[in-house]
Amino acid sequence: MYDVDQIRAEFPILSREVNGKPLVYLDNGASAQKPKVVIDAITRAYSEEYANVHRGLHYLSNLATERYEAVRGTVARFLGVRDENEIVLNSGTTEGINMVAYGWAMEMLQPGDEIILSVMEHHANIVPWHFLRERMGIHLKWVETAADGSLDAQAVIDAIGPRTRLVAVTHMSNVLGTVVDVTAISAAARDRDVAVLIDGSQAAVHMPVCIDDIGCDFYAVTGHKLYGPSGSGAIFVRKERMQEMRPFMGGGDMIREVHRDFVTYNDAPMKFEAGTPGIVQTIGLGTALDYMMATGMDKIAAHEKDLCCYARSRLDGLNWLNVQGQAKDKGAIFSFTLDGAAHAHDISTILDKRGVAVRAGQHCAGPLMEHLGVSATCRASFGMYNTRSEVDVLVDALELAHELFA
Ligand code: PLP
Repeated sequence: MYDVDQIRAEFPILSREVNGKPLVYLDNGASAQKPKVVIDAITRAYSEEYANVHRGLHYLSNLATERYEAVRGTVARFLGVRDENEIVLNSGTTEGINMVAYGWAMEMLQPGDEIILSVMEHHANIVPWHFLRERMGIHLKWVETAADGSLDAQAVIDAIGPRTRLVAVTHMSNVLGTVVDVTAISAAARDRDVAVLIDGSQAAVHMPVCIDDIGCDFYAVTGHKLYGPSGSGAIFVRKERMQEMRPFMGGGDMIREVHRDFVTYNDAPMKFEAGTPGIVQTIGLGTALDYMMATGMDKIAAHEKDLCCYARSRLDGLNWLNVQGQAKDKGAIFSFTLDGAAHAHDISTILDKRGVAVRAGQHCAGPLMEHLGVSATCRASFGMYNTRSEVDVLVDALELAHELFA
């Protein structure tokens, strides 16, 4: 059984008030709160087990290395990857996708080659590809979302042409909550010898992910959304792609020998992890993933599905609220605007007065905002600790905002 009250009790921040009201934290799409086990793991790492990793031969360095390296296996288990050496540890999705752009795509693509993107990508899965467009003459081909906010996998597959080298799409939209059939896209792309990068920043938080089943080449996640520390993350890189990829950052740890006239590199995945990493952040990420797996990803997904259905029915009852994206397969992320002139920022300020934390703005999704024809939206994004009664508080606060702006 999923005891949400017990789970809430494990997140210290959830018991605080904001503006004199109990906190209703609905900004999980931006960053999630941390359970006590993660906070304790960070404290323990700094107060008892800290030293640099992979370097010293002393006790603490060996212990920190052991704790840090164990996370590679934890991430592999969490993402359904058999070989933990296909996991590169990093600071988050932005770094992961940039590594693929600089380290793999710059090596493998030629001017005039094509990368397919959907219009609902986060800037982290757009801007690195613009770098390649600007610097190498790579062509970006965009696939639109349907009117209900879904992304038709077949439309993505049909967009693959003779010059396509990479399909880079999100697994779950951070604005609409739309879930994409990345397994179908990966299978079709593989048949055509096209690589697939999946931005799993949102999906991996809300549903079980098995990369072995998906069959993609790259899958990026970010720790701070996974109830772990900011500055932590990981990317899966299929072994064959790792062999094609060059390190995009040079420095300590990623080399074997350095001489005046040549260097030799460490084995993968260390070869792609230059410099002192986010040691404690990564250890905290491992604890967060263990926590999610112990809770059960199926159970988290089922709880959030219930919240999603409930929120959908309540928000649908507000005929002055325009919810963007109503795809059938959708996570508990709701972006909306209100009829009338109220700006998303004003709405979120009113919600904040009621203790309700949502995000307002473009959500790092400029092309999607253009596609939807809106300048900004409010976004309520749910997590493993949210409840139906918090949906009710959100709806009450929205009604207040509507009254004020009507
Ligand atoms: N991709 C998606 C879908 C996101 O929601 C985010 C974060 O908002 C990112 C990428 C970027 O993640 P980070 O800033 O942690 O690197």
